[in-house]
Amino acid sequence: MNKDVLIVVDVQYDFVPVSDEYFEKGLGGALAVSGGNEIVPVINELLSKFELVIFTKDWHPIEMEAFASSHPDKKPFDSYINSQGVEDILWPDHCIRETIGAELHHGIQFENIKGDFYIFKKGMTKDFHPYGGFNGTGLGDFLRERKIENTYIVGLALDYCVKDTALESVEEDFNTVVIEDGTAAISEDLNELYKIFKENNIPLIESFEIDEYRMNIIKKAKIYAHNKHTSDDYHTRYHLQITTDYAIKFIHLIPEEDRDDVIAGCWCHDLIEDVKLTYNDVKNNTSKIVAEYAYALTNEKGRNRKERGNAKYYNEMKAYRHASFIKLCDRLANTNYSKFHSDKIFEMYKNEYIDFKMKLFDGRWKEMWVELENLNNN
Ligand SMILES: [Zn+2]
Repeated sequence: MNKDVLIVVDVQYDFVPVSDEYFEKGLGGALAVSGGNEIVPVINELLSKFELVIFTKDWHPIEMEAFASSHPDKKPFDSYINSQGVEDILWPDHCIRETIGAELHHGIQFENIKGDFYIFKKGMTKDFHPYGGFNGTGLGDFLRERKIENTYIVGLALDYCVKDTALESVEEDFNTVVIEDGTAAISEDLNELYKIFKENNIPLIESFEIDEYRMNIIKKAKIYAHNKHTSDDYHTRYHLQITTDYAIKFIHLIPEEDRDDVIAGCWCHDLIEDVKLTYNDVKNNTSKIVAEYAYALTNEKGRNRKERGNAKYYNEMKAYRHASFIKLCDRLANTNYSKFHSDKIFEMYKNEYIDFKMKLFDGRWKEMWVELENLNNN
């Protein structure tokens, strides 16, 4: 859970509807998104579930290229070519720094946040009007420094700043989820937007689904692996369980912060190679790291075992985090099982042992190699 961040995009007074009186005084509502106020209680509920929360703020100078007021011949929502040479939309003046319109909504209950929160400001120079919270803010590096892997995004507006924040989050390599009832959109027709989210593997969930969605990665991986192995008694009953039991036995060899991912990786280790799921299937149903483990343990095609288990396969496995640990758990499980169920396969593993060790040996897992040797010998 401490790998997760909630990103609250631009929940500022200029982006929510305010009374006519306030609007006329310039106290918000300049670029109001219909339904913008209604997301505040949803966000408040979510705040209590995250140890790290990021708020982004549009924080503009009074003169801004993206404001229609800077172009005497144009009006709001006309298009123009911006300083980056890209066609963009001209907006009414909004979120001018130090004004009420640029303030975060006072309904936001900061006291709900268990851990830390930070505010990232964007669009602070005249000739650059980014939509996404990662654009020019250093947010990506900030989250990586804190070992964040998963971003959950809410805020305003779904079809502009939330959309770009989500796409940038994917680009920055975070598992990215948008919580739809924590957002409101400017456009009424969102079909094109949903298509873009789909193409970029960004799930849209509802806030009531969040606990299930953030379910402990081990539980999630186990359920997923079992569901995908249903027709295969050997795997569901024995192989995955024994592989994972070995991982638990030797888990002290893995740095603490990686242990859950490794055990989850054990549950899912053969989903690409044996069940023929794709990398994205595994990623979307578990996490990127689990999918990387399953991918690292996916063998190339070859005519025989020896060809498939080539040096490249093992070198790539050794290169990815603790994938060789999972492979060793898999081998321990297979050796153990075959020893008591199939002399022929047990002999095969025994015969392969020297070659297998030569290709995969990694000093970190010495204890496990001893265990495998004992299995082979006794
Ligand atoms: Zn803006």
